Amino acid sequence: MGLQIDIQAIVANWRALASMAPTARAAAVVKADAYGLGAGRVAAALYEAGARDFFVALAREGQVLRGHLPEDARINVLSGHMEGQDLSGLVPVLNSTEQFFRDRAMRPGQPFALQLDSGMNRLGMEAAEWASIRDEALAAGPAFIMSHLACADEPEHPANASQLAAFRAMTEGCDVPLSLAATGGILLGKDYHFDLVRPGIGMYGGLPFAQARPVVRLSLPVIQTRVVEPGEFVGYGSTWTATERCRIATVAAGYADGIFRALSSSGASLYADGRPCPIVGRVSMDLVTADVSALDGVPAELDLICDEQPIDRVADYAGTIGYEILTSLGQRYERTYL
Ligand SMILES: *Cc1c(COP(=O)(O)O)cnc(C)c1O
Repeated sequence: MGLQIDIQAIVANWRALASMAPTARAAAVVKADAYGLGAGRVAAALYEAGARDFFVALAREGQVLRGHLPEDARINVLSGHMEGQDLSGLVPVLNSTEQFFRDRAMRPGQPFALQLDSGMNRLGMEAAEWASIRDEALAAGPAFIMSHLACADEPEHPANASQLAAFRAMTEGCDVPLSLAATGGILLGKDYHFDLVRPGIGMYGGLPFAQARPVVRLSLPVIQTRVVEPGEFVGYGSTWTATERCRIATVAAGYADGIFRALSSSGASLYADGRPCPIVGRVSMDLVTADVSALDGVPAELDLICDEQPIDRVADYAGTIGYEILTSLGQRYERTYL
């Protein structure tokens, strides 16, 4: 019942991704509470498996995580050094000259890393900015220099090669560990691996790592089942009307729990031991209705996320990506860690 999270599958996926980039150290990206799955538990298990480098988005996430990890774990903060932040025990990834000067003034001698923009135009220093502080920044001894790929989930996309070339050009002659690849970049091959890889979604069972072991199962308790006659409708807005006599089950979760309203009559199903029961009518805040006529009995629970309908299938039905399905899973589920 509830949200089952297979920690050993996360560890196995991390190991599999690490082994695809044998020349690099494998970090683990645990931002947004480990993509909604619980950063403390996930990071502790990955530490146990040998991970020593972790990435979060915000200093506040890093401070929470610090309490779950031994001293020798390095917790890197992707947003860098914003004003007024407590970065003690953390490694900010500095994204601009402004962040660099702020950080060096306030945290002299403390570890830091640098991010360069190789074409995504989201975070990191551009070539001219980087050139202006390069000597001073290198003299200060960054832990690593990184950049991020915008299109790594599309292997044929020309941006991959151009970002790789830009990153190489900007880091030429830097005797510092380099990092470019997230999950998608690991799959692009060894040119993209450098010294440190940063897998996230692949560890959590999502595309583009198609060989990932599934991590999440979401089982929802059935509250009530009823017979609906032809011509009767189901749910808000009466968007679905029965054309024949059917049985409708109502389960206890809805869009407040990350079951997107866009899944209403989208083709997505709830599963009973591997058998699909189409979601019918609107997804409401706390409830979802599904047609269980094809089943012999009434199950105690129905699965939204399972081997037959993994996160990326659910995402397709909802018009989004697996990342958003995971990070939207709410706090109301009973969570079980396997
Ligand atoms: C989120 C993120 C990652 C992890 O990306 P995945 O696609 O989930 O593997 C790595 N690096 C940076 C900079 C990120 O923002």
